[in-house]
Amino acid sequence: MIPLVKTNIPPRDILLPELEKVLYSGYIAQGEVVERFERAFEGFIGNGYSLSLNSGTAALHIALILSGVQKGDEVISTALTAEPTNVAIKMVGAKIRYADVDSETGNICPKSIEANINELTKAIMVVDYAGIPVNVPEIQRISQKYKLPVIHDAAHALGGKFNEVKTGNHFPFTIFSFQAIKQMTTIDGGILQIASNYDYEKGKLIRWFGIDKKQTRLDNNIQFQGYKYHMNDVNASIGLIQLKEIESTLSIFVENGQFFDRELQGIPGLELIKYYPGSTPAYWLYTLKVERRERFIKKMAENGIMASELHKRNDWHDYLNDFKQILPNLDDFYSKFVHIPCGWWVGKEEREKIICTIKKGW
Ligand SMILES: *Cc1c(COP(=O)(O)O)cnc(C)c1O
Repeated sequence: MIPLVKTNIPPRDILLPELEKVLYSGYIAQGEVVERFERAFEGFIGNGYSLSLNSGTAALHIALILSGVQKGDEVISTALTAEPTNVAIKMVGAKIRYADVDSETGNICPKSIEANINELTKAIMVVDYAGIPVNVPEIQRISQKYKLPVIHDAAHALGGKFNEVKTGNHFPFTIFSFQAIKQMTTIDGGILQIASNYDYEKGKLIRWFGIDKKQTRLDNNIQFQGYKYHMNDVNASIGLIQLKEIESTLSIFVENGQFFDRELQGIPGLELIKYYPGSTPAYWLYTLKVERRERFIKKMAENGIMASELHKRNDWHDYLNDFKQILPNLDDFYSKFVHIPCGWWVGKEEREKIICTIKKGW
């Protein structure tokens, strides 16, 4: 079976010597390797500050705190995402107000964001679902007009671009996840990419109990609630190895995705995603809209190809459904969309097989 997602662990002869080095160095907590990993990730993104963490969820939580979101506030978000996006909003005691999606992309609809802003709105959460960039210029415009910070959940979108600028550069806060099945893994981990140095310095304190690592324990005086969210040197050493190959790994996702964009045109019963002009998807998963989805998934499975919706829309979880919103575009998108494999494990032979199988009909 060609899987939809796959864990990408570096080769043994490269990974194990580096792991041994750090494991027996006498220091495995957050230290010099974490520092190097953060600076290397900043190099990859190109701008801003990289705060490394033990998960993408921790990155979302800290982004919400730095945005000033508190109990009783509202955050506008999307229901088409993995659960961490919206569970994190509940972690700060805020309520989730779902905007509808654009039916062509499945991503949050700027007009619907604007229609849902009220005096309790404190932040906007946007997600590059499956690696498809959100409508960056429109969301930036809304953010400026209403003076609302945007948190960009780019857990699916490492290496995506808008107007040739890498994802991670468009909003005050962007989160990446290095969980097992994301484009890059550190086993578990995440980055909060922060535009301002002030927020980065504050984020460092929130990451570790509110304690300033630059001062001794005795000189510290905790001023606010912190957490234990730091990355350690062991995970960071895996991240450093991953980063060496990341551009070439990510380019396979994009090359496969663009191949599908070309080859799947004009097939009856199948509708391609229309990307926002200027955007380059990261293609973590390849997303399509199909008629007779159950039959499509079954036909693909019979031919050894995994296809699936993968995620349950988050407003179908009682706990994540604070305001029962009417979301007609999401209803439509959700009834048709499906993902097919697109990552580094999909070679020329596999992708030809995928195209042939689809062209035979379902
Ligand atoms: C994976 C994921 C996260 C959270 O990442 P973890 O590292 O698992 O905490 C957040 N948002 C989305 C959309 C994800 O897919």
